[in-house]
Amino acid sequence: METPIVAPESVEEPAPPLIIIGAGLAGLRAAEGARQAGYSGALMMIGDEEHPPYDRPPLSKDFITESAPPEVLLRDVDELTRELDIDLRLGRSAEELDVAGRRVRVGGEWLSYSSIILAVGHRSRSFRTERQEQSLYPLRTMADALRLRERLDAGAGRLAILGAGFIGSELASSARSRGVDVTLLSATPRPLEGALGTQAADALVRMHRAHGVDVRLGCTITEVGASSIVLSDGSEVAADVVAYGIGGEPATEWLAGSGVELDPGGIVCDEFLRAAPHVYAAGDIVSWPSELFERRLRSPHWTPAAEQGACAGRNAVTDAQEPFDTVPYYWSDVYGKRLQFVGVASGEEMVVVHDDLPDGGFLALARSGDRISAACGIAMRRAIVAARRHIRQGTSWSDAVEELVSDPRSALVATR
Ligand SMILES: Cc1cc2nc3c(=O)[nH]c(=O)nc-3n(C[C@H](O)[C@H](O)[C@H](O)COP(=O)(O)OP(=O)(O)OC[C@H]3O[C@@H](n4cnc5c(N)ncnc54)[C@H](O)[C@@H]3O)c2cc1C
Repeated sequence: METPIVAPESVEEPAPPLIIIGAGLAGLRAAEGARQAGYSGALMMIGDEEHPPYDRPPLSKDFITESAPPEVLLRDVDELTRELDIDLRLGRSAEELDVAGRRVRVGGEWLSYSSIILAVGHRSRSFRTERQEQSLYPLRTMADALRLRERLDAGAGRLAILGAGFIGSELASSARSRGVDVTLLSATPRPLEGALGTQAADALVRMHRAHGVDVRLGCTITEVGASSIVLSDGSEVAADVVAYGIGGEPATEWLAGSGVELDPGGIVCDEFLRAAPHVYAAGDIVSWPSELFERRLRSPHWTPAAEQGACAGRNAVTDAQEPFDTVPYYWSDVYGKRLQFVGVASGEEMVVVHDDLPDGGFLALARSGDRISAACGIAMRRAIVAARRHIRQGTSWSDAVEELVSDPRSALVATR
């Protein structure tokens, strides 16, 4: 009797997962974007911090004030694993990417992926001096903020901050709110002048001084003693705690030689946020060719990171590729006032149109050809929302200015 031929049971290999590297804001939005686009396959998220994705903006604001630190987790582990069905691997670093082999090395193990999204963000640029008799405190991660807060809670009363950019300024504002003596040091004669323009930079310095901050311009720290620091102008300032916020650098060194194009700010993407075949990127590290502004842009801030994450997540799991573009936007909160910037312009292009409103309201605009290209405001939320719309729609300069400057009852109503 002939043995019947039995077809072998077909054992289908499960498709490799979509892997997201970086459990931050852009990584989370990428996971949400992929799920919202209908992706039901395996999804793995690798993050080198111990926490699930959390929100960084409060770290230099409410997290440092005297009241109890706010909740900063964007989603808890339960939501991530059950609702989004993420295979969450925290406390682990991606170490190498093999684009041709579609795999990534994590903790010595090679993991295959269907697509990968790189959302590794920036890390603090570090600072050291030769003589250093006390620890220096960067401010980028939750662990950094907790360490700093612990010192202030323990009664440290004199804080020196190197770097008067957004993070340094917010830290100064938060520390002053709890009565700490603050010395704020800016290496440049006008902090943030290149980004915001001369008048906004001056307005910010005035705000610090009005709130009792000792602002030292054009100097840095040369020595750190046990309870004081020596500045580059030779003067000595008492300090129990020395913090710094002198910018970030992309966490992309592990991608060198992988085939992903890197530049000093991070990863160079195409208009679909693609960095190589089956490789996407999102967040602080990304530069993209903007059709709206007709140039390559990078905007390492919260709103663009969230928008890019969602777009990269969708593009990584669908054939239909959606181009990414946005009108860059960021905000900063100092002394109870909101500073906002929208659009693309250098500080020297900003022209002040209002700096005389009673509550410190300030508005500057920039022009490109016949269009408004950027707006910077302090206590001007509604004007900034309107400016973002005008920039996106390409409203003519005269029409935009007419609304933004001449109509104090609507767009120009100063609001905290
Ligand atoms: C103190 C502070 C205050 C801020 N305030 C504002 C504000 O008021 N307004 C505003 O617009 N923006 C603000 N920002 C900026 C905003 O938070 C960032 O733009 C945003 O967090 C960027 O998100 P991201 O996901 O690209 O990067 P991140 O949030 O940095 O997340 C990246 C994650 O990837 C991890 N990672 C890095 N390398 C690896 C690796 N090899 N393997 C695994 N994981 C890795 C990192 O540790 C990190 O957890 C602030 C930032 C800070 C630090």
